[in-house]
Amino acid sequence: MDASVRAEAYVDLTAIRSNVELLRERAGDAEVMAIVKADGYGHGLVQSARAALEGGASWLGVSTVDEALALRDTGITEPRILSWLAVPGERWGDALAAGVDVAAYSTWQLAEIAEAAASRATRARVHLKVDTGLGRGGAPLREWPALVDAALAAEAEGTVTVVGVWSHLACADEPGHPSVARQLAAFREAVAFAERVGLRPEVRHLANSAGLLAVPDSHFDLVRAGLAIYGLSPIPSVASSAELGLTPAMTLRARVALVKRVPAGEGVSYGHRYVTDRETTLALVPLGYADGVPRSASNVGPVLIGGRRRTIAGTVCMDQFVVDVGDDPIAEGEEVVLFGPGTSGEPTAQDWAEATGTISYEIVTRLGARVPRHYG
Ligand code: PLP
Repeated sequence: MDASVRAEAYVDLTAIRSNVELLRERAGDAEVMAIVKADGYGHGLVQSARAALEGGASWLGVSTVDEALALRDTGITEPRILSWLAVPGERWGDALAAGVDVAAYSTWQLAEIAEAAASRATRARVHLKVDTGLGRGGAPLREWPALVDAALAAEAEGTVTVVGVWSHLACADEPGHPSVARQLAAFREAVAFAERVGLRPEVRHLANSAGLLAVPDSHFDLVRAGLAIYGLSPIPSVASSAELGLTPAMTLRARVALVKRVPAGEGVSYGHRYVTDRETTLALVPLGYADGVPRSASNVGPVLIGGRRRTIAGTVCMDQFVVDVGDDPIAEGEEVVLFGPGTSGEPTAQDWAEATGTISYEIVTRLGARVPRHYG
């Protein structure tokens, strides 16, 4: 780590490439869509997308049209990009002009997409989404026939081509959860209905990372893998990253800003929620909740400092937190690792998730814009 750097997130693009290679193998005949929304889960939208494509992903997936356009703007022209979260009056025209596939869950979306396509004398590539049991986006099963009918009408008009039928799993990370089998059955039925009445989707897709790794029946033609491409386990209660052969791509580290010797009985940070029980050394780490370190890591967040695991002492502040390093000879400028691959004794993002009561997705995605990303 550069001596002048306060803190950085180092992103190992080789890890993303090799994770995608492994996921491609696990996907069998299905293609891999790399999910790079939310700035590549905090790892960088464009860098992550390029690494994933080099690793063999053939599609990219994002939530918003803005994210899809940002990918196209940097010259990612070849692969298919699917953008799936829209509001009324969405930038459909820009999406179509940029060759972005869009999702439709309802007839109003289809109507807006068809209108945008008609005004550009083009056909929109649409993925129709059915809610098979997540209870989030997607047409409810009872509205699926009406959505399929509207799509057939738009196809006949020449404004839309339905290239995909898809859904999303609720509990793939809990093996054996009864909803997984129910969703698989509902999805098969929804696809069969759509095909029976005349739709000819190129791709049927259901699986996220957990589905890809733990539910082989969910692979269909395409899997949408997010967390696993960044090397984090989507099924941590079943298998760790290492057990899955994945390499966590991000290392979050900082340099100690200040050390000081304090007596026993010293209250540390806001609220004095940590009090020293002996004379000790405190090290100030210049990262806080503005950088994405959860405030819930107060008194529980793990770090590696001076070759030893320590726990955050007291409250995490906006820009900084404190570590009680005992009598270890820690000096200003010393590297502190919050999380990384876990191969050199440092905690992992999964360790942080468990310590703070959340999921590893949130630990990496919440990383603030103030933390520079360095790529290797
Ligand atoms: N598909 C959809 C619709 C999503 O919203 C997400 C992420 O939340 C994914 C796929 C990827 O999920 P995961 O990161 O668990 O692989």
